[in-house]
Amino acid sequence: MSRLDGKIALITGGARGQGAAEAERFAAEGATVYISDVLDDAGRATAHRLGDSVTFLHHDVTSEADWEAVVGGIAAAEGRLDILVNNAGILHMARSLDTSLDDWNRVIAINQTGVFLGIREAGRLMKVQGSGSIVNISSVAGLSGVGVAHAYSASKWAVRGMTKSAALEFSRSGVRVNSVHPGIIDTDMMRDSGVPEPAAGVPVGRAGTADEVANVVLFLASDESSYCNGQEFIVDGAMTA
Ligand code: NAD
Repeated sequence: MSRLDGKIALITGGARGQGAAEAERFAAEGATVYISDVLDDAGRATAHRLGDSVTFLHHDVTSEADWEAVVGGIAAAEGRLDILVNNAGILHMARSLDTSLDDWNRVIAINQTGVFLGIREAGRLMKVQGSGSIVNISSVAGLSGVGVAHAYSASKWAVRGMTKSAALEFSRSGVRVNSVHPGIIDTDMMRDSGVPEPAAGVPVGRAGTADEVANVVLFLASDESSYCNGQEFIVDGAMTA
């Protein structure tokens, strides 16, 4: 018996990085996994690498129509959706004084509105099923302020708030909603951030890996976490300790 046997999962932003690592872990634990992303070539390549139980879907998380098509398509094909990982996100390194309204709106649209649409579309289906686990990927930037990433931090605090609100909303429906707060994780996002030596201030002395985040997301996606709801799970090498 594997940890996600028979479960149907959707992971946004799953073409690479943490989302791809989560897809690999989920598939190894018996789930049927849909990864969605705007990076079509990378998404198809990841699905191909991970095998028959992983399918790529084109999906811009800022688009209401895309969400309806993706969740509706999975429901039509599988009859249910057990797990949603709202993982898609972008990093924007800029102080408030250097953030244009266009940049603000882009960060909020992907990191915050995308999560709202996911909670709404998957939540509707899960509520009818009477079960489901939604895992929202926030950040340590959703636990404290980040002077050099104003919009990003705002969006990740919003994810934390939406997680708690949705957990309360769905608490009698068998649907759980939790947030995960990675610290410095070695993915393309961090490599492309322009931050010199991003892991320099991490107490354990290194960046985390995508697999180390995926292990926590797997626990929250599975029934092992059945009494965890509306809470924050921090994966940061003691950064916020
Ligand atoms: P990543 O850049 O490798 O992956 C993010 C994925 O999201 C990419 O594949 C990207 O194409 C996708 N994406 C971006 N915009 C999208 C959109 N509009 N619709 C659909 N997909 C979209 O980075 P990652 O580190 O794997 O990030 C995963 C999550 O973890 C993000 O939410 C990020 O904010 C969060 N996070 C990352 C770190 C870190 O240090 N890497 C730390 C804390 C939190």
